[in-house]
Amino acid sequence: MKKSPEPHLARTIEAAESIGASFSPQLLQWYARRARDLPWRVDSDPYRVWVSEIMLQQTRVETVIPYYEKFLAAFPDIETLATADEQKLLSHWSGLGYYSRARNLQKGAQHILTEHDGCFPRDRDLALRVPGVGPYTSAAILSIAFGEAHPVVDGNVIRVLSRLFLIEPPLTNQVGRLELVADQLLDQTKPGDHNQAMMELGATVCLPKNPCCLVCPVSESCAAFSSARTDEFPRPRPKAKTTDVECALLWLRNGNGRYLFRMGWPLLPHLWMPPIITLSETASSSGSKRGKAPDPGDKIESWLGEEGLVWNGEVPDVTGTFRHSITTRKLRLQVVEADIDTTKWAAGITERGAPEEAWFDDGERVGLGRSSLVDKALRYRR
Ligand code: SF4
Repeated sequence: MKKSPEPHLARTIEAAESIGASFSPQLLQWYARRARDLPWRVDSDPYRVWVSEIMLQQTRVETVIPYYEKFLAAFPDIETLATADEQKLLSHWSGLGYYSRARNLQKGAQHILTEHDGCFPRDRDLALRVPGVGPYTSAAILSIAFGEAHPVVDGNVIRVLSRLFLIEPPLTNQVGRLELVADQLLDQTKPGDHNQAMMELGATVCLPKNPCCLVCPVSESCAAFSSARTDEFPRPRPKAKTTDVECALLWLRNGNGRYLFRMGWPLLPHLWMPPIITLSETASSSGSKRGKAPDPGDKIESWLGEEGLVWNGEVPDVTGTFRHSITTRKLRLQVVEADIDTTKWAAGITERGAPEEAWFDDGERVGLGRSSLVDKALRYRR
């Protein structure tokens, strides 16, 4: 027997159903007039839509635009992406962050090439089996590229729905259930435009703070607006727990002026990085200021000992300190730069079975994937 939805969800679905017929025409009319001119709206090719949707995850539209054009120039179709060199791929993603997105995009392209002859599958279940494609991305691609009626529910849409129907947690965090609500509003004849219009409304009108209700095309249907409670919705989410991580980043230079890079640093395992040593990790305490950075000297010395490396001269000072966040980890990195005696070290490599590593000068790193963390660290290199 089919379970009936819980009361809050059932009421919300009913409310959505009751405004469904008038909602979408108003929204679509507004979208036709006000949609921003964005490069991924030029056509509805599924590959182009897919790339844009992945790039836009956790990244602002303005940041994505220049990357999107260059990425498509380098990887114009699924086959080119599937067979691309990984470092070339990551170099075109450098600066966008969340590199697993790029690697999943390539895995997805490889999957589509072998399983679907290089054509993005139109079927929802098959689309969901493409690596890196979840409920949101599949709904966006299938509705925009193929006109399939699947509602999208992203952060912008959740905000709009929360205000339209005064939705309370935990429903606001249950994307699968919110799809049932969004589905009541969806225009079945133009689902791609409707979905884009909902996201556009959230991005440009139904803003997180101070929504522009006076120019909103759906204000007549909005419960938060009619009850003057727009500032109460969406209800705030509990903050994710973060960790303060103290690190030392080492610019180690050999006699040829090249610097040591390694692959496999746990936080960015697929990028060439200078060695980074963790000095300490503690749960962030909200409200209190972070204390003084610890002296990295002892940890660096013992790391050098384990690696069989020796300074070529004096023990160097810290040249600078900077901060960088990776997901929930808030790093504070102290930069140390030094010349290394690689004659003694060469023997050590074979003995210790070194991780994948290489010496690069700055020119040799062009074309390789790079993190903005390394770009920040370069400012403190002499
Ligand atoms: Fe958002 Fe205001 Fe429009 Fe309601 S009326 S959907 S709160 S912009």
